[in-house]
Amino acid sequence: MNKHILTILLSSFSLFAVAQQKVDPSINQKVKTLLSKMTIEEKVGQMAQITMDVITNGKDRYSSFEPIALNPQQLEHALVKYKVGSVLNTANNRARTREVWHQIINKIQETGKGRLNIPVLYGIDAIHGTTYTADATMFPQQIGQAATRNRSLVYKGAEITAYETRASGIPWNFSPVLDLAPDPRFPRQWETFGEDPFLISQLGLQMIKGFEGDNIADPYRVASCLKHFIGYQVSISGKDRTPAYIPDHVLRDYHLPPFKAAIEAGAHSIMINSGIINGVPVHANFNLLTKLLREELGFKGLIVTDWGDIENLHTRDRVAKDHKEAIMLAINAGIDMSMIAYDYERFCDNLIALVKEGKVKESRINDAVTNILSLKYKLGLFENPLHDLKKYPKFGSKEFEQAAYQSAAESITLLKNTNNILPLKKGAKLLVTGPNANSMRTLNGGWTYSWQGEKVEEFAAKYNTILEALSLKAGKENVNFIEGVSYKMDGKYFEEFENGIENAVKAAKDADAIILCLGENSYTESPGNLSDLYISDLQTQLAQKLAATGKPIILVLNEGRPRLISKFEPQMAGVLQTYLPGNFGGDALADILYGDVNPSGKLPYNYPKFPNSLVGYNHKPAENRTTVEGVYNYDAEYNPQYEFGFGLSYTTFKFDNLKLSAEKIKADQEITVSVEVSNTGTREGKEVIELYLSDLYASLTPDVRRLRGFEKISLKPGEKQTVTFKLNKKDFSFTHLDNKAVVEAGEFKVKIGTLSKSFFIE
Ligand code: BGC
Repeated sequence: MNKHILTILLSSFSLFAVAQQKVDPSINQKVKTLLSKMTIEEKVGQMAQITMDVITNGKDRYSSFEPIALNPQQLEHALVKYKVGSVLNTANNRARTREVWHQIINKIQETGKGRLNIPVLYGIDAIHGTTYTADATMFPQQIGQAATRNRSLVYKGAEITAYETRASGIPWNFSPVLDLAPDPRFPRQWETFGEDPFLISQLGLQMIKGFEGDNIADPYRVASCLKHFIGYQVSISGKDRTPAYIPDHVLRDYHLPPFKAAIEAGAHSIMINSGIINGVPVHANFNLLTKLLREELGFKGLIVTDWGDIENLHTRDRVAKDHKEAIMLAINAGIDMSMIAYDYERFCDNLIALVKEGKVKESRINDAVTNILSLKYKLGLFENPLHDLKKYPKFGSKEFEQAAYQSAAESITLLKNTNNILPLKKGAKLLVTGPNANSMRTLNGGWTYSWQGEKVEEFAAKYNTILEALSLKAGKENVNFIEGVSYKMDGKYFEEFENGIENAVKAAKDADAIILCLGENSYTESPGNLSDLYISDLQTQLAQKLAATGKPIILVLNEGRPRLISKFEPQMAGVLQTYLPGNFGGDALADILYGDVNPSGKLPYNYPKFPNSLVGYNHKPAENRTTVEGVYNYDAEYNPQYEFGFGLSYTTFKFDNLKLSAEKIKADQEITVSVEVSNTGTREGKEVIELYLSDLYASLTPDVRRLRGFEKISLKPGEKQTVTFKLNKKDFSFTHLDNKAVVEAGEFKVKIGTLSKSFFIE
């Protein structure tokens, strides 16, 4: 290979964007002055975060009861005696009204401010809407938002969530999730923007802007928290919080870009990956937390642990012989705040002792507390620990609901439409069936009114399930419902029972079409661990038996990850993926099924066909000795059910005139790519134009292709628009074994749709 290699240091790409936040310049001085007045006990207390269950009534401090009430002694013990600086989540893991939140947080702030008037920092997982507040607006989960490919919808959703979270008295949101999520086995793929670094980076930025605006002291904004730094979702086992092995250059090339972009945009806090990478728990990894995150990326915000993860260094990961050593390792590695969540006395007493023994330097404590106090100042909590409820008239309003509906409508992805079976004809007789047909819980997924989503029906009865939305749309007389298979709501989340499969088969005879709603019940984290990626046996049976009737079936998927459907997919006439579309998913789906909305979602991951074929769209070429007409086919192992980026419309689009601004460029030059897109069908529709780039030969085997640009546009029938992208060295580079980004000379191929064109880097 006579190729000349141009090495460009990663740092030269950084061009650190000036933080867009309007921050009061006197904050640094205020923090310094306050810190100088604080005792070591007060400082360590700031570094402690407890869960609400610790300070509410219950038979012991780990459990509380209804109605929620703060326990005065426990409150006093935690916030006054131990001077704890932060609280998270909610007692009994259930949503409350805004009024209740205000009363509770007011009391916490009053009790916790102490002699120095330091406000308590309250944090919560408002990951697709304000999870723990009754009547809040619930958007599609991140995976569905990724399918919209619509930057402004993601921004709007985050802005509304910030408003409703602040309306609940809470200024800190543990969102967005910027994990690279290429593994459909992992139980939290749905909490992410999917498998591509560029897509995650782009939508992550919008979410951060929507949460934080240009000033987090604004009563309608919250501080975001990037999760889970770094490499969380690629464990070997595919199960939550189990070991991963990630070479450094891979970590940098695929996992780092979304975090880097978010940090450059000024995001205010970050949560650490609970897992273990290359044998080192991330919470004890000085190289990742201090060297990479602080020194190289220049992150200036607050670093918080994930749940109980300092304790885990001793009890689970066994890198510390006791709790005290675990605390030492984590704080010295760079942790500022510990989400303890229960044994705060042990954390505080041990950390104070470690400082006195010189095992943790007081300067490290001062840095940590500076980061915590700075965030409290920046959020305006010293002046306004709680804003007046009256400031939030738009909470749960029709305007906000419309935005959630829009996001659901643009997320739903049409994957198959044989002979244009869709849209359905008005007046058609429908059989609606499957365990996901009549459930608000499955439409929303986890982190909805509770951690695992098991309380959704209690809070979301006023919204429409798929069945309810279809009955409203098609008329009750046209809709027959037999569930066929049901989830056991009181058992393990994946338990199901047979509930009338034969009845459904009989009823199919009177139907013109079957709407078969399959997928998963709600879950998150380790309760969602899975041993078989195929959709359940009972659901498979229901699908196969219905298919045998010969009636056309529209398969509606409602699931947190792509469960395999290859055993019956060929018999389905239509397939739609709804992901976890939120409270308006039923309405949006009904509008798409009847053609009132033209679908425009695109898959944010590869939908696999088989359990042993889970590679992503941007895989490496691989040998498997299959030949096609005597020629080796190096990509024969790559056989997804549906590819990343796939999604149909009720209209047709045509791409023409792919043009590049140059045939040859230098590595630090930009190239402009344009393409004409026309709507050649008969309906108005939205289309996503995705640009893929392939580096044809490189000194490390290149990916077959990488997404480097996307735009979503709307076109009327007959309308045409030119879409332009700019590519630069960031797009041409990859990370080499020495962990440095390089651009290598040679041929690069740009692909948009079926069009492609090459250019050369000299
Ligand atoms: C999850 C985090 C979450 C935290 C607080 C953890 O178990 O991994 O994503 O933010 O709990 O609820």
